[in-house]
Amino acid sequence: MRRDRPPLRRLWRYGRRYRPRIVWATLFSFLNKVFDLAPPFLIGVAVDVVVAGESSALARLVGVESPIGQLWVLAAVTLFMWGMESATEYVMMLLWRNLAQQLQHDLRTETYRHVQGLELAYFENTTTGGLMSVLNDDINQLERFLDVGANDILQLATTVLVLGVFFFAVAPSIAWLAFLPFPIIVWGSLRFQALMAPRYAAVREQVGVLNAQLANNLPGIATIKSFTAEAAEAARVATESERYQHVNRSAIALSSAFVPLIRIAIVLGFTAAMVAGGRLALLGVLSVGLYSTLVYMTQRLLWPLTSLGKTLDLYQRAMASTRRVLDLLDTESGMVDGSRPLPTEAARGELRLEGMSFSYDGNVLALDDLDLVFPAGRTTAIVGATGAGKSTVIRLLLRLYDPTVGRVTLGGVDLRELRLEALRRAIGLVDQDTYLFHGTVLDNLRYGDPDASLEEVWRAADIAEASAFIAQLPQGLDTVVGERGQKLSGGQRQRLSIARAVLKDPPILVLDEATSAVDNETEAAIQRSLARLSLGRTTIVIAHRLSTIRHADRIYVLDSGRVAEMGSHVALLERSGIYANLWRVQTGEQQTAALESSGYRRDPAAN
Ligand code: ADP
Repeated sequence: MRRDRPPLRRLWRYGRRYRPRIVWATLFSFLNKVFDLAPPFLIGVAVDVVVAGESSALARLVGVESPIGQLWVLAAVTLFMWGMESATEYVMMLLWRNLAQQLQHDLRTETYRHVQGLELAYFENTTTGGLMSVLNDDINQLERFLDVGANDILQLATTVLVLGVFFFAVAPSIAWLAFLPFPIIVWGSLRFQALMAPRYAAVREQVGVLNAQLANNLPGIATIKSFTAEAAEAARVATESERYQHVNRSAIALSSAFVPLIRIAIVLGFTAAMVAGGRLALLGVLSVGLYSTLVYMTQRLLWPLTSLGKTLDLYQRAMASTRRVLDLLDTESGMVDGSRPLPTEAARGELRLEGMSFSYDGNVLALDDLDLVFPAGRTTAIVGATGAGKSTVIRLLLRLYDPTVGRVTLGGVDLRELRLEALRRAIGLVDQDTYLFHGTVLDNLRYGDPDASLEEVWRAADIAEASAFIAQLPQGLDTVVGERGQKLSGGQRQRLSIARAVLKDPPILVLDEATSAVDNETEAAIQRSLARLSLGRTTIVIAHRLSTIRHADRIYVLDSGRVAEMGSHVALLERSGIYANLWRVQTGEQQTAALESSGYRRDPAAN
């Protein structure tokens, strides 16, 4: 399984296309460190020039005898080295930071696209907040590591490598002293990694839980207020936040202990090299210049290791996040896209459910062996009690789920063979719970057809009987509707959703309780526009109020996921079954309502 591989390896595989840039950035990290390590050498050479004069190593190397001349040569070299250090640092920072930006951008957009493509069932079993924490926080964590952490690790490795070679070349007798702390540091780091990984995984996990809690509460703020549940909800958020604090604390306790431990090991190596090297210098085995370079170099070699803790910390956090992001990216969609295009003529064909059963959880059947036919260009209604399976039928028609048994066909072709995009383009959905996006009225209408002209938009608004209220909005079509369209009334949202469907101009129209959330007057208006809209389209209507569907060409009555009755309104009334019964109850209700509105039995509790 890919998921079991170390996250760094997975990231390397994922980042194939960035490899050339990573190689360049690595090269500059290396060069920059090499130039950065030059000053101690230059100090050594300077001491040597002052002490040895005309017989210094530099004199032999460049052939300049006068010590002052040698100092000038040294000054030129120093300027060059520092200049190069600055130049390489600039390029190095540019490369790493831009790489971090590019990668976080690509990874975020790619993961978002991937998530969008996952089937609906996936979202029902995941939390929005959790997904958002992966798409935001986890990707940012990785960005932070690439920004500074990766370079730190590479430069540390460069320091050890360059100085190691130098030490063993010039003073093998004391080199091993400087490297004395290394086994302890390597062992410590590995232990640290092993202990930190699960703690940071827990931290990231908890970030997701906390986010889920927040994302769950904020959209429900009106409900929280109306039930005066503020204190209870604040307490729930506090509990999750405390858990986050707690898991982080356990990670911090460990990561903070790392630096002091490493420092003790380092001090041992540094002191040993200083004393042993000093002894050799006193005995005349080591020149004073070399000794000063060695002591300084030991310090340069060992002190950066104290920052190892911070860098490894960043690395571990980034790897915990990387694993979560790549896991999400590796989540395969439970729904395989078909390959057949859907020509307009085929989309105008008949829709059928053939011997179809469906279960959400694999146990209980929500739909049980259904054979439904939705003739092309006609209106078919589905009625039944709450929970009978009406909306589930719609979700299968839109292929938001696949049947457990049997198939759904359009123009004789199994929906699973069709390209999903083509199928969903062919269906216009108006449901009871209209979702509008934060943006203007125009943006939301153009969701139906991004290229629609203003005239087309107004025409669609006319058909949906929405023009009048749009014209009265403060900025007309440019009025911002608020998140989920909350600045509009239910009836207004519904009219926009119809106008959106008009613009989409689909051959198939699905109306799922489209008028259940609006008042009688709005309902009448919406019914008029829907009647116009459904002309010549294959229309499927789910309605609670039977009066709205009695002109349908065919009516299916569902009961516990099965077809209990079917036929025209008149035929069903004659059967005196479930439908006829419902009809009697509802028309009775209507008479009561008519009586109530005429002033009879004014009972506030009934409203
Ligand atoms: P209707 O639209 O007729 O009111 P639904 O199609 O929404 O009924 O629901 C049919 C049955 O499936 C119900 O028992 C409901 O609880 C169940 N159900 C609906 N949606 C889901 C879901 N996403 N996961 C699990 N069960 C579901």
